[in-house]
Amino acid sequence: MNMKSWIIIIDERRAGGMLDAAKKLGGQVTAAVVGSRALADSIAKLGFDQVLCFETAEGIPAEAYALQVAEAAKAAAPRLVLASDSSVGRMLLGSVAAKLNATMIGAVRLLAVDGESIVASRSTADGKLLEDIEVPGALAAIFDGEDVEASSTKPVPVELMPVEDPGTTMRMVETIEAEEAAGLLTAARVVGVGVGLASKDDLKLIDDLAAAMHAEKACTLPVCDDMRWFPSNRVVGSSHSQIAPELYIAVGISGQPQHMSGIRDAKVVVAVNNDPEARIFKNCDYGILGDLYKVVPELISAFKNNG
Ligand SMILES: Cc1cc2nc3c(=O)[nH]c(=O)nc-3n(C[C@H](O)[C@H](O)[C@H](O)COP(=O)(O)OP(=O)(O)OC[C@H]3O[C@@H](n4cnc5c(N)ncnc54)[C@H](O)[C@@H]3O)c2cc1C
Repeated sequence: MNMKSWIIIIDERRAGGMLDAAKKLGGQVTAAVVGSRALADSIAKLGFDQVLCFETAEGIPAEAYALQVAEAAKAAAPRLVLASDSSVGRMLLGSVAAKLNATMIGAVRLLAVDGESIVASRSTADGKLLEDIEVPGALAAIFDGEDVEASSTKPVPVELMPVEDPGTTMRMVETIEAEEAAGLLTAARVVGVGVGLASKDDLKLIDDLAAAMHAEKACTLPVCDDMRWFPSNRVVGSSHSQIAPELYIAVGISGQPQHMSGIRDAKVVVAVNNDPEARIFKNCDYGILGDLYKVVPELISAFKNNG
């Protein structure tokens, strides 16, 4: 098979993992960096066969270059295009996929070649199963596989791509600093808040639980989007952050797959829910069936007494 891969890079996240996955299929692996020259220089040391730099101008978001990246991808005609999971990565990959007329698949964890096809294994059923999809043509995939630390090599020359000023199509008009939630991504203990909480005032209960167990707080999507009780960097799930705490206590969360995929690497999941049929009871290590307004105060005392 004439295997040629493009990896769309907007930051260093999973760059090593994507490179490793593409190299295993054979053929040339190109990094298409959409960002600063400094990022391209650092990617050039990771072992890619070719590094292209679509240098973005000050104040213009990477998404504004999507069409130009897609045109260049069309000219190069790679068989496989990968990007890591982020809103920018998804948008760039989507544009490239449309130009290449490629099959687009998300949450791809492994890649292999079978005859003339690429086989993409993507996670499904809350990350418990891998589903193999055979793609006979071009494949554009969001890579969600293992990251691998790419060993430093002699840098390849960075090829600066001729980019045109995207003009007024998209401009950064304001940057609002999000509330610091970096601690959530590496926290050992996390309390997740769902729609089961009746009012914003009741967040005090969650604050007390988080303080008693020295935990960070997370939430489901509607608690952010509909209730506006938390900023989006506290949302855990398929479209937001993935976390891997030692302990996750889900309070008033039903356990929909989009939320559960964000905690699939949690060691111990405890669910507090008053509905015996709640889906989360099938996906937790310990289920506490009861009203959160009775259970959470008990948990707070237990953590205060036992740490
Ligand atoms: C494309 C797409 C992407 C999405 N991405 C995400 C994502 O990244 N993250 C995410 O979280 N969601 C995501 N969602 C939304 C997801 O599908 C669910 O709608 C959401 O996770 C449900 O949130 P919830 O569990 O808080 O609410 P609900 O499903 O309404 O569940 C509330 C739970 O609280 C329980 N409850 C009510 N009162 C009490 C009480 N007093 N005591 C105890 N329990 C009580 C109820 O029994 C119920 O089980 C996405 C959806 C789509 C379509």
